Amino acid sequence: MHKFYDDLKEFILNQEAKERLIPYYETLFQLESYPEMKELLSQYKDSNYSIDYNEPDEFDCYSNGWLEIYEVNNPIAYTIELDIGQMQGGYCQCKPKDEGYNSDKNCCGRSCDVHLPKVSIVKEVKLLNHEFQGYERDLWALEEKWLTEYEKDLLQKKQLEKVSSIEAQIEQLQKELEVVKSGLKN
Ligand SMILES: [Zn+2]
Repeated sequence: MHKFYDDLKEFILNQEAKERLIPYYETLFQLESYPEMKELLSQYKDSNYSIDYNEPDEFDCYSNGWLEIYEVNNPIAYTIELDIGQMQGGYCQCKPKDEGYNSDKNCCGRSCDVHLPKVSIVKEVKLLNHEFQGYERDLWALEEKWLTEYEKDLLQKKQLEKVSSIEAQIEQLQKELEVVKSGLKN
């Protein structure tokens, strides 16, 4: 088995949320031979990536969270989104005498209501790292401009837009006034 799957299996077994994560492992494992997975798998093998799990946001009912595959100072990272798939199937009417009936689940598990796990893998590439070039006082001088020049410029721009808008309204009202006046004359 590929190192990525070995590591992910061990990671999941150590998680409190392992029952939630196991179906996603199996879904990811179905992708092992997909050409799209080759890059991730070979990157993983040649690097020292870590795996992290993030719980979903409290009110996100479409997500079971996401896995992060990352390495400090490696510009390439991967996020694996663990989505709650579309609801499929119909209302369960399985009976114990049905073929393949699972008494623990009270269902045959074939065509009854289910959300099958769905994964998306997002590759993140850090384009560059850049630190401000200069002294702190150079930055102060630039910050000062924001509070003086840039904010004033923006305020002036907004005021000019308001002037244009009022002028256009006046022009429109004048036209309407002319129409009413010419009606009076007739
Ligand atoms: Zn069923």
